Amino acid sequence: MLDWFAGAVESAKTMKEIGQSLLTIRDENIIRERVYELNNNLMDLQQKLLEAQLNQMELVQRIQALEGEKEQASQSVSLKAQYALHTFVTSAHAYVLKTEEQGVPTHFYCSHCLETESLAITLQGSTILSCPKCKYSVRTTPRKPFETTAFR
Ligand SMILES: [Zn+2]
Repeated sequence: MLDWFAGAVESAKTMKEIGQSLLTIRDENIIRERVYELNNNLMDLQQKLLEAQLNQMELVQRIQALEGEKEQASQSVSLKAQYALHTFVTSAHAYVLKTEEQGVPTHFYCSHCLETESLAITLQGSTILSCPKCKYSVRTTPRKPFETTAFR
């Protein structure tokens, strides 16, 4: 990954050497040749700096993406920590706020959305609660005999 850096250092070193040798040379042809070499080195160095810049930009983007993921992960952990799994008499599940876990919960939250997408979606309905987002539904009370055909 640091090839460009070693290359850039090498180019800069060569340029310095050429620059120093120019001070002692009197022959015009040799000077012209050296200036040409110097120009090539300069272009090489510019190329390497450009690569270094691109490299750095990629790294910055990567860091930003990772920081975003980390932030999301910690948010989802802290969100889930606020809820407790509630089991209805029908053995269906939904989440409730931990603060309401011991009493009578006022809201139930979709377990599918909370577990897969870290979203707290309030379930709608009474006998059958359903999620407006993913359509997941849970039955909170056992079926009465006359309901058997109505809710299949
Ligand atoms: Zn849902």
